[in-house]
Amino acid sequence: MADPTGFLKVRRKEAGNRPIHERICDFSEVEQVLNSDDRMLQASRCMDCGTPFCHWACPLDNLIPEWNDLLWRGEWKSAYNRLNATNNFPEFTGRICPAPCEHACVLNINDEPVTIRENEVAISERAFTEGYIKPKPPRKRTDKRVAVIGSGPAGLAAADLLNKWGHNVTIFEKNNKAGGLLRYGIPDFKLSKVTIDRRLNLMTFEGVEIRTGTEIGKDIPGRVLLSSYDALCLAIGAMKPRDLNIEGRDLNGIYFAMDFLTQQNRINDGEIIPAQERISAEGLNVIVLGGGDTGSDCVGTAIRQKAKSVTQIEIMPMPPLKRSPNNPWPYYAKILKTSTSHEEGCVRMWSLSTNRFIGENGYLTGIEVEDVVWESSGGQHIMKPLPETRRIIPADMVVLALGFMHPALEGLIEELGLELDDRKNIKTDRNLHTSVRGVFAAGDAVSGASLVVNAIASGRKAAMAIDRYLRKEF
Ligand SMILES: Cc1cc2nc3c(=O)[nH]c(=O)nc-3n(C[C@H](O)[C@H](O)[C@H](O)COP(=O)(O)OP(=O)(O)OC[C@H]3O[C@@H](n4cnc5c(N)ncnc54)[C@H](O)[C@@H]3O)c2cc1C
Ligand code: SF4
Repeated sequence: MADPTGFLKVRRKEAGNRPIHERICDFSEVEQVLNSDDRMLQASRCMDCGTPFCHWACPLDNLIPEWNDLLWRGEWKSAYNRLNATNNFPEFTGRICPAPCEHACVLNINDEPVTIRENEVAISERAFTEGYIKPKPPRKRTDKRVAVIGSGPAGLAAADLLNKWGHNVTIFEKNNKAGGLLRYGIPDFKLSKVTIDRRLNLMTFEGVEIRTGTEIGKDIPGRVLLSSYDALCLAIGAMKPRDLNIEGRDLNGIYFAMDFLTQQNRINDGEIIPAQERISAEGLNVIVLGGGDTGSDCVGTAIRQKAKSVTQIEIMPMPPLKRSPNNPWPYYAKILKTSTSHEEGCVRMWSLSTNRFIGENGYLTGIEVEDVVWESSGGQHIMKPLPETRRIIPADMVVLALGFMHPALEGLIEELGLELDDRKNIKTDRNLHTSVRGVFAAGDAVSGASLVVNAIASGRKAAMAIDRYLRKEF
């Protein structure tokens, strides 16, 4: 156990972020790194609870008290091995996980949870720097071939495990680089793409084949893969964006969040975007519709592109500042989140409905909004507009960050004739096996848009099921 009285002696200390005036001038990672001594002291705060609620809350079942103890003792390598036993990519989750473990940490009862996420990334980075993360190809290969479709965290996790167990794995990715939303959705200021490339190199050395620029269902029919591989794992994400089909939707200046974010990530990667396709917020009054995390990423991106003003609008009410009585510890705290992007200078508005987009000569000039109140009736939230509050907010650019509906159904899913659930995600049984024999699915494509940690957990679960399937256990 780490120091039994550590939490009484050491206060929570976060690494902190780069100064705002500096970080808004580039797309480099915002979060800083704590020195090793302080980091080990932070780990000493872990009480190795009899019931480790952190572990209960982690979708990956990370052995948090164990690696906190090793970190406190300075046994960085063992800490990494313990971490890596349940998480293929702690360098990703250590950077961008919303850390349900910290919400559930017993020390969070006093609002000072262990810095679990930061400890995780510190252990991972040390492991890479000290060079004890080395390619470990499997000693023996089986004669089984698995095709993983989609290279987001779910597909990568499934491929990594299946390859480690000796199966011959090929990842097919429609984009020209692998990584899924890690690469093309999440901005560089949260997750540097060097981190993704470093892991992909390792996996390639270990024998995973990655074929980018190949859309299954278009460039290669799914049925062809089905006949040439022993199993398929569909990890194709859930990227069908939710639209807002109101008056004026066809005006110039309205974009989907993913188009906006992807383009900036491509530019950061050195791609040249033709001027007529460029989506730039420079000098514009930007409104981001949608108060979630994707919206927050759009805020940070617009600020870095030197927008004149950025406003984020959410139709739901502002969350409480502290846990409400029906949202007690150790559950995930549904409270107001202020991201680093919000801190950088953005106006946030809640309980506001957008009625129509307004424009001149085909170009957006503003949006008409009105306040709404939410009433509960029969367990449902009912929205009531207040027409007397109707007003216009000037805007030159609107980014729609209203969430995602389900995976793209046209192409692969239709071709394979996969059954869908009520929300049009891919329907699977408890083994993540779909309605077509030999075809498994994982990640957002099954759950709907979620989190990286859930995608990795799902990819691992699919890999375990595929391995049993290949061994003819079901
Ligand atoms: C802007 C944004 C920010 C986010 N920030 C965070 C965050 O900070 N923390 C967090 O935990 N989560 C975050 N998320 C959510 C997280 O990124 C996703 O939950 C996660 O990436 C889902 O992983 P996945 O592997 O299921 O799918 P994806 O990451 O969506 O990957 C699916 C891949 O499949 C490929 N593909 C699809 N169809 C085909 C085909 N037919 N043939 C070949 N390839 C195909 C796609 O091109 C894509 O690369 C964010 C999401 C967005 C959009
Ligand atoms: S709940 Fe917090 S203090 Fe307890 S074992 Fe987990 S990280 Fe350590």
